[in-house]
Amino acid sequence: MAKPGANAVTIARRGLMLVISSPSGAGKSTIARNILEAQIGMKLSVSVTTRQRRASEIEGVHYHFVSHKEFERLKSSDALLEWAEVHGNFYGTPREAAEVAMAQGQDMLFDIDWQGAQQLQDKMPADVVSIFILPPTMEELQSRLNRRAEDSAEVIATRLANARAEIEHWREYDYVVVNDDLDRAYSSVRAIVEAERLRRDRRHGLFDFVNTLVS
Ligand code: 5GP
Repeated sequence: MAKPGANAVTIARRGLMLVISSPSGAGKSTIARNILEAQIGMKLSVSVTTRQRRASEIEGVHYHFVSHKEFERLKSSDALLEWAEVHGNFYGTPREAAEVAMAQGQDMLFDIDWQGAQQLQDKMPADVVSIFILPPTMEELQSRLNRRAEDSAEVIATRLANARAEIEHWREYDYVVVNDDLDRAYSSVRAIVEAERLRRDRRHGLFDFVNTLVS
């Protein structure tokens, strides 16, 4: 793709909040990681959680791992933009990091469940773009969960049992992507980001830009 030249036009806009949800094993985390690694100006909102850290996870990169007591403190001091209990653990989005990024026009990616998506959609309807990722079949979902060797059989069983109830929330999302092919699903998410970035109502800099054309 051609690089923007010296005459590239930059039009100021608000950052967008890209919310991606799916049942565990539908491939959401892989798609999210690919979006972040593509360096297209998307930054991850790092959640706090009371869940045990997996061996592959790094504190501050994948999550901020906190005690129940610390989670309660964050909740009661209004430091979380949203929070939810998922599969028996607590998860929440730190408010300050997200608000600072948004104010700077930085796009943020939120890998959160349907409860969190609902809360963000209620609070920031103009900024949230939500995508629900579906697995191609329930068999595929189960085999993806089994292949991820980091969770115990009990954890996998809980996640599978919860998957149907999570899928029921697909209607609450702006976009639905079926992950039958990772490359295709990823391209769909990229296309959604590109289109949403061009939305007129998000680009307050258009007023000045158009004035330079017509004045
Ligand atoms: P995992 O334990 O596999 O990392 O995440 C379990 C579920 O919790 C996933 O569906 C993930 O999207 C969701 N989750 C992670 N962080 C947050 C958060 O800050 N808020 C909410 N509501 N859900 C989250």
